[in-house]
Amino acid sequence: VRDPSKCVKCGRCVKVCAEVQGCAALTASNRSGDFKITTAFDLPMDQTDCVLCGQCSLVCPVGAIVEVDNTNDVVRAIQDPRKHVVVQVAPSVRVGLGDEFGLEAGAIVTGKMVTALKMLGFDKVFDTNFTADLTIMEEGSELLSRIKNGGKLPMITSCSPGWVTYMEKHHPELCDNLSTAKSPQGMFGAVVKTYYAQKMGWDPHDIVSVSVMPCTAKKYEASRPELGRDGYRDVDFVLTTRELAKLIRYEGLDLSVLPESEFDSPLGIGSGAGAIFGATGGVMEAALRTAYEIYTGQTLPRLEFEAVRNDVNAIKEATIDLNGTPLKVAIANGLKNAEEIIRRVESGEADYIFIEIMACPGGCIGGGGQPIGTNNAVRDARIKALYELDKSLPLRKSHENPEIKTIYEEFFGEPLSHRSHELLHTHYHARPKKHDFSHLK
Ligand code: SF4
Repeated sequence: VRDPSKCVKCGRCVKVCAEVQGCAALTASNRSGDFKITTAFDLPMDQTDCVLCGQCSLVCPVGAIVEVDNTNDVVRAIQDPRKHVVVQVAPSVRVGLGDEFGLEAGAIVTGKMVTALKMLGFDKVFDTNFTADLTIMEEGSELLSRIKNGGKLPMITSCSPGWVTYMEKHHPELCDNLSTAKSPQGMFGAVVKTYYAQKMGWDPHDIVSVSVMPCTAKKYEASRPELGRDGYRDVDFVLTTRELAKLIRYEGLDLSVLPESEFDSPLGIGSGAGAIFGATGGVMEAALRTAYEIYTGQTLPRLEFEAVRNDVNAIKEATIDLNGTPLKVAIANGLKNAEEIIRRVESGEADYIFIEIMACPGGCIGGGGQPIGTNNAVRDARIKALYELDKSLPLRKSHENPEIKTIYEEFFGEPLSHRSHELLHTHYHARPKKHDFSHLK
């Protein structure tokens, strides 16, 4: 949402959109007293190259660009006694939310955040790290299947909705390269309204599924018609980290002094591999931990794949040894870097097998819905925190998560099963640059 009356014409949004994201949806126009920040030809935002990454909202110093606000929708749902309101929280929120309450950058506030969500009135508080593990099970198996059966390569990750929208608008020729595995948010929504609803004896139409994400583009992802069935959406409302902080403040709570609580279970256990999804290179590393052990049948001698840990604003290439089989991979964050990776693939200059692309600098920890004031030092602190969290957990591989084993035993059977394909996978298609966002309002 843009409010030009607040704009002080600093040009930060124009710069980040053009120079970091390579979208150039915003521009400066006219001279002198008529100087203004606008879109090309003054078109409405939904007719520009905008992919909803929200990086403009992250750099705007005066709140002239903000996300669509869903806090009232969520409060109304919580106050409705007929609804079961459940919430999932993405890995990066727990290392970003503290900034809003005066804690040092990268402070890990998982337990306090869960307490705050319970005090806000959510019936169940779940961890998106659980479905990050589920994503790895599906995506890792998909990668191995493509390699074995001559499927489309390189396979490219699909967790970042800003990147997916960018690809659909600018590079639809890559649709078949994208992993069909839904993002952890999408998988969670599908699981909660099917598997969990059955377990609890709830009608999925009575469940309001909320997610807290570091990302503005997740609001759009949740609204994709592919993410729902039988007349309901898998994820009803998406709050950014900033919106969650707003709700906590409305309630008069001070996050920094709250006691710690645990996520509800099942759907509340996540491995260290799930936690590092938030950092650039993390999805790749998590997938490699599982793919290596499934492919070789051997235990990984060392869990850390430092070669794929990426820098903020960077591209990284590596060759991973799968016990004698070389796997060429690449990681990019920031859409301008993604464009360079695509150029290398399409020109034949690179022969990657697996590519991770995150739309935002640093990955999800630098998402457009994170607290204002996010800069490279803050991004680095959050990345460090996620890797520390991974190290501190007893469970660090997705396929060893006991709740993941249970959901396959009780519901999905095995990765890439018929039911997995129905609920955990999706498809992509070319989208016109003119984009209808009216349903978000
Ligand atoms: Fe205006 Fe905000 Fe863009 Fe600066 S960042 S030009 S204040 S909209």
